[in-house]
Amino acid sequence: MAYYTRDNLPSGSVLGPRRPTINEFFLSSYTLSIYEGCEIGCPYCDGWAYTPRALNERVNVPFDLVERLEVELADIDQRDLIAISTLSDPYQPAEQSYHITRQVLQLLADKGQPCLVLTKGVGIKEDFSLLQKINEQSLAIVMTTLLTVDRYLAEKIEGKAYPPALRLEMLAAAKKAGLPIGVALVPIIPYVNDTDYSMSSLLRACIEIGVDFFVWDFLHIPNVRHRFRINQILASIGSYPPSYYRDIYHEQPLPSVEYRAERSTELLRRCDNLNLASRVPQRVFAGKLRPANEAAILLKHAAFRDVTHGRVHLANMHRELADLIYRGEPIPAKLRTTPLWPQMETILGELPLPTGDI
Ligand code: SF4
Repeated sequence: MAYYTRDNLPSGSVLGPRRPTINEFFLSSYTLSIYEGCEIGCPYCDGWAYTPRALNERVNVPFDLVERLEVELADIDQRDLIAISTLSDPYQPAEQSYHITRQVLQLLADKGQPCLVLTKGVGIKEDFSLLQKINEQSLAIVMTTLLTVDRYLAEKIEGKAYPPALRLEMLAAAKKAGLPIGVALVPIIPYVNDTDYSMSSLLRACIEIGVDFFVWDFLHIPNVRHRFRINQILASIGSYPPSYYRDIYHEQPLPSVEYRAERSTELLRRCDNLNLASRVPQRVFAGKLRPANEAAILLKHAAFRDVTHGRVHLANMHRELADLIYRGEPIPAKLRTTPLWPQMETILGELPLPTGDI
C-alpha cells in the first residue's frame, strides 16, 4: 500500500500551457493530473521511468489543486477540452478517501468545461451524474485502458488495476448513462498483447458493450531503467526472452516503423470491418468544442488514416494544416486542396482564408 502525503502543488500552473497541437486521441488542449504518483502501479507504465522513487510507493494528495484550477479556468477557452489522465489514475485508491477528482469534476460541471476522463478505476461510476451534467453542456467522455481481456495476463501486467471485466462493466454503465465511451489499447506490448487472438477478443468485448471508439498506441521505453523493468515483465510472463525486443526496438524508445505500420494496418482493418471508429468519431464532438479544435481533430484523424495507408505526403499536409488551424495562425489556400475541404468550410464558417500557400 502506498503512503499518502498532503503537500500543496509546486508553484506554477496546474493545467500547464495550452498544448501547441491538439491531442488526436483525447481531443485535449490541456492535460490535468490529479494525484502525483499512482498506487495502481502497472509495471509497464511510463511513470516508473520518470520518478526517482517507486511510482506506487507515495501518492501526493494536492489539497490546493481545486482552488488553483478554479482560478485558471477563468482564463481558458470554455470550449477547450481538458483530459484527466497522464501517469496518475484519477480513480486510484486515494480518491475513495480524498475525492479530489470529484471536486474537479464538480468545478468543470459548474463551468461546462469539456473533459475526457481516462481511468482504470470503477469509482468513476459514483461521479456519472457530474459527467452527465458536463455532457449536457458540452462534452464528457469516459475512457478506460484495456490491454487484454484475459484476467490472468492482466494481473501480471496491470498491477492493482480492476480486472478487465469490471472495467468493461463500468464503461457499459457509462454508456447507459448517456456518456460517450472509448477504449485505449495502450500500450501494445510486443509478443504480449499484440497477437491476433488478443486483438480479436479485445475488439469483440468492445463491440459487445457498444464502445464509441477504440484507439491504440505502442509501448514506449524511454530509458535503460524502463527497459530493465519491461524485461522483468517479459520474464514474469515467461514466454519470451528479453532479447526478442532487440529486433523490434533496436535500442530505440519505440518499436520499429515496420512493426508499428503492420500492427496499425491490421487494427485499422479490423476496426473498419467491425464498423468501430478508430478515433473519437465526429458525431461525438461535433459542435461541442472550438470550431478550430474540431477542424484540427478531423485533419489529424485523416492524417492517421493517410499514414496507415501509406499516403505520407497527404498525412504530413493534414498534420501541418491541423496545427495551423488549431493555433489560430493564418490558414493557407492549401486547405482548399484537401479532400476534407467541404467539412472544413462548414466547421470554420466565415473565417477568412488567405490566398497564399504554405
Ligand atoms: S493506472 Fe495508469 S497511471 Fe497508474 S500505473 Fe497504471 S498506467 Fe500508470
